[in-house]
Amino acid sequence: MIMAGKIKNCQYCGKLYAEIGRGMCPDCLAKEDKKIEEVVTFVRANPGAKVPEIVKETGAHETLIKRLIREGRFEQMGVKMTYPCEKCGAPIITGKLCQNCSDAIKQELQATQEKAMKAKSIMKEKAAAKPRGQGMHSKF
Ligand SMILES: [Zn+2]
Ligand SMILES: [Zn+2]
Repeated sequence: MIMAGKIKNCQYCGKLYAEIGRGMCPDCLAKEDKKIEEVVTFVRANPGAKVPEIVKETGAHETLIKRLIREGRFEQMGVKMTYPCEKCGAPIITGKLCQNCSDAIKQELQATQEKAMKAKSIMKEKAAAKPRGQGMHSKF
């Protein structure tokens, strides 16, 4: 097997290392693996634990725990783990928002886009109303 690793700076400790697809140096990877083990052990002992509790008890970063939830690590061991939606606090297992909130945001976004489109077309109409010497004329 050829080690085709790129030399990169570790995003956690800044050390140079050969990237193997995990996004961090072997030292940090080992640390993270240990942290994951701690988290898994803690959750196994406290199946009802919430993310903030796990952060407090294990010192693991919230993003790591969320990643483990998304990866289904806790489900694998029969623990239904969720983290709160960033908007309403509903339990979710993926993304940042629950279905309701992401739907609401999508609708809001759509409404804003429609408004922007309308504003644009009004501007276009105004621009088109201005007399122009030359230009492309579209024929229907
Ligand atoms: Zn590192
Ligand atoms: Zn929500």
